[in-house]
This record gives sequence, C-alpha cells and structure tokens, in this order.
Amino acid sequence: MKTEKPKGTRDFTPEDMESRRHVEKEITDVFERYGFRQIRTPSFEHAELFEIKSGEEITTHMYAFKDKKDRTLCLRPEETAPVCRMFAETLRTRPRPLKLYYFDPMFRYEEPQKGRYREFWQMGLELIGPPGPESDAEVISIAYESLKRIGLSSALEIGHLGIIKGFLEDRKIPEDTQRKILACIDKKDTEGLKKLSTEKTLFELIGLAGGKEVLGKAEKHLKNCDRSMKALSELGEIISILDLLGIGYLINLGIARGLEYYTGMVFEMRVQGLGAQNQICGGGRYDNLIGLFSGISVPAVGFAFGFDRVVEAAQFQKIKTPVRGIDVVVAPVSPDVKKEALKIAATLRKDYVVLFDLMNRKLGKVLEYAAETNARYVVIVGSKDLAEGCVTLRDMKSGVQKTVKIEDIGGALR
Ligand code: AMP
Repeated sequence: MKTEKPKGTRDFTPEDMESRRHVEKEITDVFERYGFRQIRTPSFEHAELFEIKSGEEITTHMYAFKDKKDRTLCLRPEETAPVCRMFAETLRTRPRPLKLYYFDPMFRYEEPQKGRYREFWQMGLELIGPPGPESDAEVISIAYESLKRIGLSSALEIGHLGIIKGFLEDRKIPEDTQRKILACIDKKDTEGLKKLSTEKTLFELIGLAGGKEVLGKAEKHLKNCDRSMKALSELGEIISILDLLGIGYLINLGIARGLEYYTGMVFEMRVQGLGAQNQICGGGRYDNLIGLFSGISVPAVGFAFGFDRVVEAAQFQKIKTPVRGIDVVVAPVSPDVKKEALKIAATLRKDYVVLFDLMNRKLGKVLEYAAETNARYVVIVGSKDLAEGCVTLRDMKSGVQKTVKIEDIGGALR
C-alpha cells in the first residue's frame, strides 16, 4: 500500500499551522478594514470556466478529469474566474463596489520546486464595479499594507497592459499574435518574441523600468497611439496616489502577467530569500472577464498572494510568530482527587490554555511532560491540600512551588 503524500503536496505540522494562521489573521484583518468580505467557491469547476480566458499558463497545468456523467471538471487552479462566475450567478444585483476576498487551496500540475507546489494556497481579493485608477491604487495599497503588517519587506513593480496592447492594436497585429507576444513578454522569452515581432519600439517599451521618468520616455514612442496614451495617463494617476500614500514602487512596462484576462494596470510583488520563485503577489485590472460570464460589462481589479510563499518569506526574514503556548497542566496526584482536579481545569480553561493529564501518570512524569511542552505552570492537586481548599502551583521556569487557595489560582497565573 502506498502511504506517502502525492508529489507536490505538503503536510503542515502544528508549528507550521501556527505561522500560517498568524499570517492569515493579519492579512485578512487588513482586507476587512477596507470592507472586503470572504467568499468561497467550489474546489472543482467545469474545466471550460478556465479555458475561456485564464490563458495557456493555467490550462496546460490543470488537474482536469471526467466525472461519472462524462463532464470535464477540474480542480480550481485560480479563483478570479470562479469569482466572476459566482458574481454572474448569484451576486450581480449586489450594491457596487462589491468587495470580495478568498483564501483557498489551488491546484496546478506543475513541476514542484522550492516555492512551487501542486497544491498551494492563494489569498486574494476582487474589487468589482469601479473602473478608475483610484480603485487600482486601493488594491495595490492593500497588497502593500498586508505585507507591511506582517513585517515583510518586498519590492512592488507596476505596469499597464493597455500600453503594449494599444501599441500592438495600432500596428494592426492580429489578436492571436498579440496573445502570443504577451505570453513571450511574460516569460521573458526574447528569442520567441523576436520571431513574432521585429518592432524596435516594442522591445524598447518592454525594456522600460524605473521611476516616474519612465512615463515620459514611453510617451515619446506612443504619441499617436490613443489607447496607449490613455493607459499611460491612467498609470500616472495610479502612481500619484501611491506617492501620496508613501508607497514605494518601480514602474516596469515589461510586466505582462500569465493570465490572459488582464486589460489594464498589472502589478507584481517580489521578496528576497525564495530563489527563483520570489513572486509572492500578482494582480491587475480585468474589465472584460465578468462580461464574458454575465453578459453585462462590469469592470474589476484584484490580486492574489501566493500564501505559501508569503509564509516562507516571513520565515526567511526571521519574522516571529506569536504562539499561544500551554499555560497550565493540571495533575491530580491520586485517583480520589480526579473529579476535583477536573473541575479546577474546567474553571481555569475560561481564561487559559489548560491541559488535564489524561495518561494517569505519576507526578514526576507529568512534570517532565510539562517541561517538554513548555507549559508555564503545573497545578498539583493532592488530597491533603484539597482538604484545606488549596492546590500546589509550580512555576515551571523557576521551579518554585507554592500553596494557593483554589479560588486564587487564576490570579496567580497572570
Ligand atoms: P497567478 O494566479 O499565477 O497570478 O499567481 C499568483 C501568485 O500565486 C503568484 O505570485 C505566486 O506567489 C503564487 N503561485 C502561483 N503558482 C504557484 C505554485 N505552483 N505554488 C505556489 N505558489 C504559486
């Protein structure tokens, strides 16, 4: 019998889960302060949902399978398309902007390596309804603030797909070729790109990266290209809001993103210490995706954190997780005091993390266990003490023991 876990999956120990839950709690708190509310979509969907617009990067890595009725389903590889489907099916009449977030496992059949798994978690949000740069800037600042909240330093890069798309449209490049060009830009596949386009300007544009001066440099190439000029001015507005908020960034017009549905601003965040898989966040504006599912045009913008990478980066940057340890172990020294000891444990549990010795061990063994699990105190319940309404309280750090009244134990633990 094969009992190992499948390739690309992981088990999470209690310590792992403590770090993960800490990061989850901090980031979701930031999301909720901006009015985002959590949703959940099914773990599997009709494969078609992702084939429509998620792009080759996603569809070639899907866990697709046939069910007993011969329907082609697949494990969810990303959640933006499901959120748009959900919007079309159940949320379309909600007041806008509609602010949704999710924290769910995703599945992609990729070659596992550090920071790349077949089952991984994404924590992301979608801001549905508003079209403008202010909502783009809000979404970017939430991603920035989330990482800041957990104390993680990262680098933010922002681009705008309208710039390149407008340029390609202006040069009458067919849509299918445009898609291939963007895929090459995303993969930094210069050789592939050279086979698709010999436009010097295109190479110059995607090579532009830096501060605000990038906008001026791009403008020189795009004077007669209306869509690109509009995109440039949008990008200018977004970064002026980020300046106002004190958020540092690099403009990079070479960001294309692997997912095909993006139409406007795109951004990525990177961290140190993860090697090749250092991108921990990706997002952007996708104004046509909801229309594909619902028939009504609704602009939207969002992003997803690669949650596993955020946690790994936090560990690499030595960010401490506050751990809720064991406050007290209650140890009855003989069977006749067990009931009383159980009552004491139940009362203390209202305020503390309390373990009751379930192994009927001798006191010495219970003390060893308390030391190994880093418990702060042991409450020793013996019949002689009990007759006087007391117990013995042992401070595990100092080893000092004292007799305390039962009603005073809670106070003594503080
Ligand atoms: P994407 O949905 O491809 O834009 O990815 C968004 C984020 O999810 C990326 O920035 C990564 O941090 C993370 N991510 C994507 N694929 C994986 C994977 N196979 N394993 C772990 N994290 C991933």
